[in-house]
Amino acid sequence: MIRYPISESELIKLIDKIKPDWRTRAALETQRFIDAKDYLEGSDFWGEIKEVYIDLQYEKCAYCETKLQGKSLASKVHEVEHFRPKSSIKVWPNPKSKRWKLFKPSWVTGAASKTGYFRLTYHPLNYAIACTRCNSTLKSNYFPIKGKRDLLSAHPVNMQSESQLLLYPISSVDIDAPEDIISFDGVLAVPAHDSGSKYERAVTNIEFFQLNHQDLTTRRGKAILGLWTALMLAKQPGQEEFANSMINMLCSPENEFSACLCAFRTLFSRNFVKAQQIQNLLAEALLKERAE
Ligand SMILES: [Zn+2]
Repeated sequence: MIRYPISESELIKLIDKIKPDWRTRAALETQRFIDAKDYLEGSDFWGEIKEVYIDLQYEKCAYCETKLQGKSLASKVHEVEHFRPKSSIKVWPNPKSKRWKLFKPSWVTGAASKTGYFRLTYHPLNYAIACTRCNSTLKSNYFPIKGKRDLLSAHPVNMQSESQLLLYPISSVDIDAPEDIISFDGVLAVPAHDSGSKYERAVTNIEFFQLNHQDLTTRRGKAILGLWTALMLAKQPGQEEFANSMINMLCSPENEFSACLCAFRTLFSRNFVKAQQIQNLLAEALLKERAE
């Protein structure tokens, strides 16, 4: 998971550019919800500005960094999703869910609510694009928090008292940057801090989005093997320029799993022996998988 830096005014400019009347319609619709004190079904139109988020996030899922399908050929598979649920909130971890049955956090994660964050239904800083796995299968209507649920604020920046546990990667509206919360040990997402609220946020996000599920670790492993090849090539005289441009491309925010790859590049420069051990294990696992 990485942060996608942008100011609120820059984000608004991008929205105005593709849909000049969107914000006026959004304000009217939000007033309708405020009058009703709840989200109301209607002519939902947040999807009209999805292009802004697809570009901003380099066509990647906000949470697992999987590259989504290309914008031009498959824009219909991208959906703008609400970070804070608009219509209701369920308790997380759901004790009935097999997925989180064994996860018992020692910190509070907030109560359920029949009403959602309806005032943020049309707030540009309450959107992100995400893969179906992260958004529909896992995120659903959950929104764990450590503080008091604030369903009345009209701007996410005023909701710090909620102490939200999930990381929001767009702009700096979330006080924590994902890279400062979640790090990587080889293919595994790990907390970047040993204790305190940053540790709790890391563990929550890793569990919530199942960031160490085999589906993701296998794919991160293949990406690391590609990076390893480029890192080794950069040691060959005459190959440095080409190899370094490959390394920069692989570790750039535009690339899938860039947070994991950046962590491996740092490991390679600081602890070559450990990087080599990881590479050997990954190569063995890949060969075994091919042989099966
Ligand atoms: Zn995802």
